Amino acid sequence: MTMVNGPQNDLYDTSLIGGNLPPGPVGRGVAELQALLRELEAVTAAEQTLPPVFSEAVDRRLVEVRLGAAASLFAALRCKSAAAAGHGLRVALSCSAWASRIGLQDAERHAIEVAALLHDVGVIGVPDHVLLKAGTLDADETAVMSQSRRMSLEILRGSCTLPLVLEIVRHVATWYDGSSSGAESESTVSGERIPLGARMIAVVEAYDAITTDRVYRPAQSRERAIAELFAGAGTQFDPELVRQFAEFCREDQAAMHWEAAHRWLASLEADPTETLWGFNAAALTATEPNVQSLFQGRLLDNMYDAVVFIDAAGRVQSWNRGTERLTGVTGLSVRGRLWSSQLLGLSDEKGRMIADADCPVQTAIRCGVQSLRRLTILGRGRRPVAVDAHAIPVIDAQGVSQGAILLFHDASSETSLEQRCQQLHEKATKDPLTQVANRAEFDRVHAMFVAAHQQQHAPCSLMMCDLDRFKRVNDTYGHQAGDDAIRCLASLLKSSCRPGDLVARYGGEEFVLLCADCDNATAARRADQIRKALSQVTQPRMEGRSVTVSFGVTEIQPGDTPETMLRRADRALLLAKSNGRNTVVQLGSGAGEESAAAGARSREAVRSKETLQQDLITPVPVKIAIEKLRGFVADHQAKIVVVDGNRVRLEIDGQAGGRSRRLADRKTTFFVEATFEEERVQRDRCDESSRSLDAGTTRTRMHVVITPRRGRNRRHHDAMDLARDVLVSFRSYLMAYEEEPSPLSGALTRARRILTPWLSR
Ligand code: GH3
Ligand code: MG
Ligand code: MG
Repeated sequence: MTMVNGPQNDLYDTSLIGGNLPPGPVGRGVAELQALLRELEAVTAAEQTLPPVFSEAVDRRLVEVRLGAAASLFAALRCKSAAAAGHGLRVALSCSAWASRIGLQDAERHAIEVAALLHDVGVIGVPDHVLLKAGTLDADETAVMSQSRRMSLEILRGSCTLPLVLEIVRHVATWYDGSSSGAESESTVSGERIPLGARMIAVVEAYDAITTDRVYRPAQSRERAIAELFAGAGTQFDPELVRQFAEFCREDQAAMHWEAAHRWLASLEADPTETLWGFNAAALTATEPNVQSLFQGRLLDNMYDAVVFIDAAGRVQSWNRGTERLTGVTGLSVRGRLWSSQLLGLSDEKGRMIADADCPVQTAIRCGVQSLRRLTILGRGRRPVAVDAHAIPVIDAQGVSQGAILLFHDASSETSLEQRCQQLHEKATKDPLTQVANRAEFDRVHAMFVAAHQQQHAPCSLMMCDLDRFKRVNDTYGHQAGDDAIRCLASLLKSSCRPGDLVARYGGEEFVLLCADCDNATAARRADQIRKALSQVTQPRMEGRSVTVSFGVTEIQPGDTPETMLRRADRALLLAKSNGRNTVVQLGSGAGEESAAAGARSREAVRSKETLQQDLITPVPVKIAIEKLRGFVADHQAKIVVVDGNRVRLEIDGQAGGRSRRLADRKTTFFVEATFEEERVQRDRCDESSRSLDAGTTRTRMHVVITPRRGRNRRHHDAMDLARDVLVSFRSYLMAYEEEPSPLSGALTRARRILTPWLSR
């Protein structure tokens, strides 16, 4: 489109409207109608009779080879205005031939060709009543036509990646003297600063516009056109280029076009024209939503993870490169297809195929439920790949589901890492021969059991067992037979486990079974069942003979540490061995209600700054109380410092049995001093606390004083907390309780304590 003399219309000259018309409005109306009909005829003729440059097919091919993907833009222009499209092609061919004649570099010539072909693509946006108007354009219509230049630039910005093309199109309408800036009103360049291509196209397009039929003017002669160019030289056109073009025009223009067309077809066939066109990032910075979609597009394409968009109808809308990489399925082959879990062979953690009804995508679309699951898909080469599948519902502002996003993260490396960790964990925690827990794992879980008991009073018991006379088994039947017997015991222990229990190989032919939520009696019963079962299993490598096992069983009791509990179980096992083997021995007071209550009450023990002391009663004679004290001494590994008549002084290294993290690693040495005094209880003297005792039974009174050794533990409070634990444990071992404080018994006890040293002198 040239603006050489502004759009004008010879046909719209009222002097040409012939005939005698009635005066007044009717006459004017008829005249107008006649003018419109003539205009239409002229337009139609102009549009229809415009011949192709060569032939339709050749023209199309030329545009295709020159514009590649952008040929569709040109096709759109042709649909809108065949005249504008033909004009573009002719200008491009002329510019190409001219550029070639003056020896421009290929790159610059290419840019000029493309710019020339599409410099009027903005015509697409010009309304037909303006574009096809035969008469002179009014101010508004002229503004619309000028706008089409801006539109050309706008359209090309979005897809043309060659900056020179855009620069040329921007300045095609810029006048040489800078007096009119054409498309870009802010442009102030003039003269040589206007790109050469733009100056050339300005000349050629004006020449073409003048020499071809237009809706507003028939084609004019070449001489007329050259004269008009010279008239505009120095103002609208580059005078040197006008002179050059006039020279160039002397040559056969059709031959020039052929020459250019031939070169395009011959040289551009294999030319990577497509590189000119792409998603033009720079061009889209103008508007916010475009920037966003640009960022989103880039993000999707560069994500390693697979992202699939599925619309509300369940059709695949987007399938990014990450998905192609992961699945080996191209976006082209699935876009628009209905999503199905079979598309990628989705299966769950257990390898079961996921039906469409259970597919996370369907759930997200139907119910708006978001999900994150470890699934398996069939990846490249139909190989299963573990993925973390995240299905995200897409719901609009009105709460209507618009589809779902499916995100796959390749978890195969994590899976193998997890498997490796699992293997390492098993190696670190399991015994290789029997596949039960090893001793380290037992120690860890046992400490947790003890801590749980201290915090929630959850009962638990511990069985410790050891194969009887196992040395003989090995010696007689060989190590293999021994191993079989060990495995046999382990599997019996495992099969007798309840949820929460733990079996561990403690060493050699010795096993432990931690029984969660299980009291002493139940644990002993269960141990006896295992013992019996093992004795009935004939060992194939032992000539049909069986092996036997001995059990020591104990329940956790107040004041226990993992060590005291374990040592008590071990003592019970030793007793079982010394009792003749193939038997179960149970030790300990257990964590019954009595003990728990005693534990709670012991917190009220008399406490001075330095010591903790309490008066206690155990319902047994002093001899048995001393026997129980032996258990306390053994399990705490206490040192007997002094035995003086009915007074015993012990030294204990106390340690918090996992009760508190803060205290767990602290050790304090305590002195435990206990005095024992046996007494007969008469029925008529029975008080509330001794009502269960028969009249005439013997019981033992004890006074216990616990003193932390000075200087060992800098935190006195911690030491006193540990002292309380020792006192609670002492009470558990001695099965001791506090006498209900009656005024009389309290006074008697105090008097007895004061008098005893005097009386014993
Ligand atoms: P007791 O009834 O007092 O327990 O007698 P015992 O012979 O079982 O006593 P001891 O603990 O002295 O013997 C244990 C034997 O167990 C010694 C050792 O050779 C054997 N042993 C330890 N671990 C294994 C093992 O993994 N496989 C085999 N076959 N034998 C083992
Ligand atoms: Mg043994
Ligand atoms: Mg042993």
